[in-house]
Amino acid sequence: MTLLFTPPTVSVPVSGIAERFSVRRVYCVGRNYVDHVREMREGDERDDPFFFQKPADAVVGGDTPVPYPPRTSDFQFEGELVVAIGAEGVDVPAAQALELVFGYAAGIDLTRRDRQRDCRERRISWEAGKAFDASAPCGPITPRESAGDLATAELRLAVNGEVRQRTPLALMIWNVAEIIAHLSTDYRLRAGDLVYTGTPAGVDSLVPGDVVRAEVSGLAPLSVTITENGSHHDAR
Ligand code: MN
Repeated sequence: MTLLFTPPTVSVPVSGIAERFSVRRVYCVGRNYVDHVREMREGDERDDPFFFQKPADAVVGGDTPVPYPPRTSDFQFEGELVVAIGAEGVDVPAAQALELVFGYAAGIDLTRRDRQRDCRERRISWEAGKAFDASAPCGPITPRESAGDLATAELRLAVNGEVRQRTPLALMIWNVAEIIAHLSTDYRLRAGDLVYTGTPAGVDSLVPGDVVRAEVSGLAPLSVTITENGSHHDAR
């Protein structure tokens, strides 16, 4: 078989080994911290988790500057724990779900909030608000066995050195095992899938020049620089 062309493989570095984690799909949890559900005034904190996707090539590492995206005037950060899936699974019980996990990373679910709100008001898909180029920065993946106990870990996001989001991961409405269990009822999970697990309160707008740093205790940090709009066609 001869291909007309080969799109570049998107991959994320793995701490401690030379091989990179190639990205197949990107799933995101729509809401997973009570304080963020309240600040967005949407839904009920007892609702089942819901998921949306971003294109795999929206994933960028911390070494790639993120251009301010087009057609928004409210470009926001959402610091999140990212789960990297390393094995196939469908209808996985929560008790076995962590066996699918290859590792964890700090990530940012970048959002065109004005476009997302517009989608919500018009009752159409969130894609315009969520699934744009370079919208899924992801830090180096720490393998599960080196990641320590996430139950006691803290997620922090700082802009230009000032902490803007800070939460114990224990405050997630749905924990990692439960998220994988739910997701695997809708989709066959496979190695290469990334799952962004939702953001706590504190989301806010970014401007060009901002340096956004997402950290989860025990994992490698992610630092992303926002650059001017106009160069978004050169995102990678
Ligand atoms: Mn999010």
